[in-house]
Amino acid sequence: MASLSAPLDKVRIIARIRPVLGSEREMDIVVKNDSNLVIMPNPKNEKETFTFPFHAVYPMESDQAQIFAEVSPTLKHLFKGNDVTIFAYGVTGSGKTHTMKGNKAPAERGIIPRLLTAIYRRGKELEKKSNGEMSMCAIMSYYEIYNDKVFDLFEAPNKRTLAGLPLREQHGKTHVVGLTEKEISTLKDFETLYDMANNNRSTSATMLNSNSSRSHAIICVRVEIKNNETGETKIGTVSCIDLAGSEDNRRTANDKERMVESASINKSLFVLSQCVEAMQKKQNRIPYRESKMTRILSLGQNNGMTVMILNLAPTKKFHQDTLSALNFANRAKQI
Ligand code: ADP
Ligand code: MG
Repeated sequence: MASLSAPLDKVRIIARIRPVLGSEREMDIVVKNDSNLVIMPNPKNEKETFTFPFHAVYPMESDQAQIFAEVSPTLKHLFKGNDVTIFAYGVTGSGKTHTMKGNKAPAERGIIPRLLTAIYRRGKELEKKSNGEMSMCAIMSYYEIYNDKVFDLFEAPNKRTLAGLPLREQHGKTHVVGLTEKEISTLKDFETLYDMANNNRSTSATMLNSNSSRSHAIICVRVEIKNNETGETKIGTVSCIDLAGSEDNRRTANDKERMVESASINKSLFVLSQCVEAMQKKQNRIPYRESKMTRILSLGQNNGMTVMILNLAPTKKFHQDTLSALNFANRAKQI
């Protein structure tokens, strides 16, 4: 277990438990115990409690600033020219979007807007400290993967080609052909583009939750640090992924379209779990080519860091989904 607490692990897996919401009945399924998480038995068919260790567990009362403090150490990797990947994994309704995007009120802002603010602050500091010798440039793209097809979120939904954007290999890297890249010079630029792209994000109703998202939303910010005297440039990319819901789709699929969605979500989440497991075990072969998402991210192929945030809903309705989400994380952290 030693490596679980080592701060410089390349993969950090943390759990965040969301509060009980107004309309829900409180159920103590998830209990925090240091960095362990305990699931109480389901009285119907289980007698045992299940315990899952994490690098860190954030209880219900944790706020957005505390969650950001967990991921902010990745910034130094980014500024060294390494790649950083931050995933939110969990069932629909568990708090993924709240964690990644959050709300407009300053205290409610999620990881993505806070990260951008921190990148700008750090870039400005760097420019100032070096008396203009160094400069930073940030370039953003934002896309979603729906039914294994890539769609540009900077493009209005009615302009989409239904086939999605093609991928191309170049110098051993996978590129999305035709994906819009926007330079963001100010935080205001970012806010405008981010809001516009979020409006474009497609959603499909499911039986469980009519607002549930059936696509993975991936925002990438490429940070280029240039030494203006030598011309040397370091390039690091941070990717933040709000994954499609991890619920058991056999239960929610009610028509052919939903079945197709479910199959592609299950496959990509399965490949993701295999990649994270291989990274955590420091295996040489990471099966990142086996899904579009992991392939575009080149997951585990670059120096840098991956943070997996497992979002959990504490109420009984989610018991089975919570257990299966925890088993996903459990695969990866057994060393
Ligand atoms: P998901 O994206 O996983 O489907 P959401 O982020 O939309 O889930 O969260 C579901 C609901 O729970 C939303 O109404 C959201 O505002 C609320 N929620 C989630 N996490 C928290 C939290 N940490 N504090 C307060 N409300 C939360
Ligand atoms: Mg969501």
